[in-house]
Amino acid sequence: MGVDLRFIPTAAKRVLDRKAFYAQLVVTDACNLRCAYCDEYLADAPLVGLDALRRRVDRLDELGALVFDFLGGEPLLHPGLAELVAHAKSKRGGSNLATVITNGFLLTRENVRALSAAKLDFMQVSVDTLEPTELSQKAVRPLLPKLRLLAEEARFKVEIQTVLSERSVEEYADFRQALEGLPFSFGFSLRHEPGGRIAIRGRRYLELLERHGVFEGVNFYGEHLREMLLGDDSRPWKCLAGSKFLYINAAGEAQWCGQQRGWRIPLETLDLDGLAANDEHKPCESGCVIGCARMVSHTLGEPLRTLGASLSLAGQSLRARPAEPVGQGAAVFRSPCPERDQTGERSGQGR
Ligand code: SF4
Ligand code: SF4
Repeated sequence: MGVDLRFIPTAAKRVLDRKAFYAQLVVTDACNLRCAYCDEYLADAPLVGLDALRRRVDRLDELGALVFDFLGGEPLLHPGLAELVAHAKSKRGGSNLATVITNGFLLTRENVRALSAAKLDFMQVSVDTLEPTELSQKAVRPLLPKLRLLAEEARFKVEIQTVLSERSVEEYADFRQALEGLPFSFGFSLRHEPGGRIAIRGRRYLELLERHGVFEGVNFYGEHLREMLLGDDSRPWKCLAGSKFLYINAAGEAQWCGQQRGWRIPLETLDLDGLAANDEHKPCESGCVIGCARMVSHTLGEPLRTLGASLSLAGQSLRARPAEPVGQGAAVFRSPCPERDQTGERSGQGR
């Protein structure tokens, strides 16, 4: 399944207009796992009602959103997830994008088929290590049967997203070998401190990313990532969170992103003037590695690069075959954010 070509001109309009482009919606703060480093789930948190979620999708669509990420906690805990995806895909003739970000442990043949039938575009499965660790349960070995099931049943693209850690440097080649033959793409994100600032540095990470071609997938800010990994956060950029990128928490409030909660406003009261008011520099830009917000900000903030990438995306969509694995660079607008984005020390995590 390729990106609908009608998506591209509408996405291009977002470069010039005042509307939103990309929205993340938390469907529940609850999670089936208990990763030690994570402070972004609430044990026994309620599911957000399906009607309320539908209304949030409606409002985000009115505000212009073209990409909907459904996330948690763990979104597969929500029995209405496929219906919600179908609701999002009922907008704009289905030319928008719907993605789910999950730890994958609750995947079943039934829910994969339901999400396929709902026309889900992408699923991002967060897998950090080969074996479970003290900090993260999101490991290849226990998840492998679910990933094989996904390979058999999914009619959407799947990306295995790994938060870069010291362990990645040691074992990533084995990690990839364990997943060899599965028709998935692979991505990384960088561990951050509370507040979104990069928490790992070092040439060895850079070399790992280059060895596995990950910079192709973040071509809009790959240079920034290189510099930040080497300790230089000085390159200026403008964060479009709260303007082109929105994070909607379980209570239905819009935030800049999952890491910044200073600005919060009920989604139903947010309008185009409110979006425009957030089209300004943020105090937390230096060293920020919130990949999804950065991808959107660089994509829409640098129109010439966007045009080139969009043409490339169009070419890839035309060439794509249904069962074809997706390369790093193939889906410029896929979600670059992992579910609970980070792994590592207890002090630093978050989407
Ligand atoms: S990191 Fe993800 S899977 Fe682990 S507890 Fe947090 S939300 Fe759940
Ligand atoms: S710069 Fe933007 S994405 Fe990064 S932490 Fe601040 S508000 Fe969030």
